[in-house]
Formats: sequence, C-alpha cells, structure tokens
Amino acid sequence: MTSTASLSTRAGGGGTGPAFGKFFLPGPTDVHPEVLEAMVRPMIGHRSSAMEKLLQGVAPKLGALARTSRPVLIGTNSATGFMEMAVRNGVRRRALSLVNGAFSERFAGIVNASGKECIRLDVPLGSAVEPDMLRDALRRTPVDAVTCVHSETSTGVLQDVAAFAEVVKEFDDVLLLVDAVTSMAGSPVETDRWNLDFVFTGSQKALALPPGLAFGVASERMVDRAKTLEERGAYFDLISFLAAMTKFQPTNTPAVSLLYALEVQLARIDREGGIEARWKRHDAMRRRVEAWSAEVGVKFLPREGRHSWTVSCLRVPEGKHAKDVVAALKQRGWTIGAGYGALKDSTIRIGHMGDHTVEALDELLPLIGQAFA
Ligand SMILES: *Cc1c(COP(=O)(O)O)cnc(C)c1O
Repeated sequence: MTSTASLSTRAGGGGTGPAFGKFFLPGPTDVHPEVLEAMVRPMIGHRSSAMEKLLQGVAPKLGALARTSRPVLIGTNSATGFMEMAVRNGVRRRALSLVNGAFSERFAGIVNASGKECIRLDVPLGSAVEPDMLRDALRRTPVDAVTCVHSETSTGVLQDVAAFAEVVKEFDDVLLLVDAVTSMAGSPVETDRWNLDFVFTGSQKALALPPGLAFGVASERMVDRAKTLEERGAYFDLISFLAAMTKFQPTNTPAVSLLYALEVQLARIDREGGIEARWKRHDAMRRRVEAWSAEVGVKFLPREGRHSWTVSCLRVPEGKHAKDVVAALKQRGWTIGAGYGALKDSTIRIGHMGDHTVEALDELLPLIGQAFA
C-alpha cells in the first residue's frame, strides 16, 4: 500500500510534512488520510448514472448533517460562492448586515457588490450582535433580509442564530441568511427547527474535507423569494440548482474527486455516531481550551458564553507577538492560525474543528503555554 504511505504524509512544496492531527488552522483544516485516498479514484461522467447514484447516496446524509428535510445543494466553489448565492437569490432591495468580523464584513460587501442596499449593524471585534439589538435595528429600518455569520472565524464568536430567527419572524417578509461555515458539522445548526431561510457551509472547515465544495439549504420562503428576483445571475441561480439537485444531477461539471471524498467522509461521520456525536466532540474540544485557559490565565477574545465550538481566539500576552507564537509552534511540528485582520498581532486562533480530538489538544495546549511564557 505505497499510496497509503505517501498519502498519510503531508506534501508541502514537494516534500512531506507532519502526519495527520497537528494542523489546526481555522480552515482549511486537517483532512484524514482515508478521505485523501478517496480522491485517487478514476473519473466518472458527470451525466452518468454513477454520478446520479453518488449524489442520491449522499443526499440523506447531508440532510441529517444540516438537520433539514429540504434538499442540500452542493456547489463546486468555496463557501463565498454560496454567500453570493444567498444575496442574489434572497435580497430584494435592502439587507441588514450584522457585522462583527471579517467574514460578516465580506457578507455585507457582497450585498453592496450585488447592487443592493446594505444597512450595517456593527459591533466591536470579539462581540456578538445580541437579539435585542437586531430587533431594534429591524424596527428602525425596514429591510427584506438579514445577513449574519453564525461562528465568526476571525474572532471566534458564536452568535445566537436561533434567537435571531425568532426575532426575524416578528417582522413581515424578512429572510434570514446565515453563514454557518465554521458552525455546521461542528456545533448545532438546526436548519428546519430554527427556520433558517438560507444556510451554507464550505467543505474545508468543520467537515474536514479539502477546500472546493460548498453546501447550502434554502427554505421554501427563500425559493419563493428567489423566483421573484430577476437578477439572480446564472452560476449561482438557486432555482436551477434546486431543479438539478432534486434530480440528483450537478448543475455543471462538478469537482468529481471532491465528491468521492465527501462520500467517504459522510460514512466516517456515520461511524462516529452521526452529527450529534460530532457536535459532542467539538463541544469537548472547546471546553478543553476553556479549562486550559482558565488554568493558565490566558484570555479568550469573546466573552464567556459566546465561544465558537470550532475556533478559539485567544489573546496573546502583553509583549508577545502572534506571529512569533505561530512560528514557535511550527518549529515543533504544529500549525495554528495567527489573528485575522486588525487582530493579526494580538490574537492567535486554534481551529479545533473537523476530525481533531481532545487528545491532540492535550498535546498542543502546553506547547502554546510555553510559547506564551
Ligand atoms: C472560511 C470562511 C468563509 C469563506 O470561505 P471560502 O471557502 O474561503 O470562500 C466564510 N465565512 C466563514 C465564517 C469562514 O470561516
């Protein structure tokens, strides 16, 4: 099994890197060797019955993962493509964008770039928008959609999207568009129960697949809205995506190899005990970082109760620089993320998502402690 041997090491600039389990970037995250191996299978035609069978096979598993009985759309694009799909198919004239970090800022930017009016509700980096703030903003300003990021990967903040959905329901004809890129598959996202109108993720975060696929779910309300919008574009047209997906067909030539990887990863998720077991493991990882930080006196950027389950954003001690901490870890074979944007020097981010374990954190955290000392 030479292929197993070569694939279980990380290729980096032609060389090999550390084995699986030490790569804690908040995306892309580590991909298990078994999943990588799935991608060496030969091609199938994208209009073949084999493709139809593949898509039909993954459909119920994706539904279970996204907690929905609606079709889960699969796109051959990074998550940002589905952010654009959300806006083009969900915003009529004017959206309220909840901005608390780099990715929610991107969502607001796409509203503007799509020729819609964007009203912003900004909170400081490291904070969450609270449901009452959302209600006040919607009372002040009539909009037809709200954009938000569930787990803001740049700051490690988890927002209360279930409560947002409750608030939005108090207003007539407002859709809730949710970036769940680092929450779905790593912490509870109850698409149907919470009444999310559009929710999406990407393959390279909590799903622990290579980058290149996006997954999204649209409510019936969202589909009805989309049908009334004339400038949905072509590549990210929700209506044609849905039409294809319900026949288990891709809209265009998809990334076939990534679909093989998806098939294998969904089977691995089943073997772990399904999505709830996966949430539980992520919850345990988050708690492990919380316990360690309390023990050694390291501070989280977000307040307690708003910590993401998949990415911990920690303040670097006074007099230290994030990039030196990241470099020190690198030297010992571990990869973590520096801060993002304005938080580049003052924070580090541990992407404990996907297929990572508490046991690996037990090894990693003391090394971070040493680099902080
Ligand atoms: C990574 C990320 C994105 C962007 O995903 P791409 O796959 O790079 O397009 C969007 N939102 C959040 C919260 C993310 O973490």
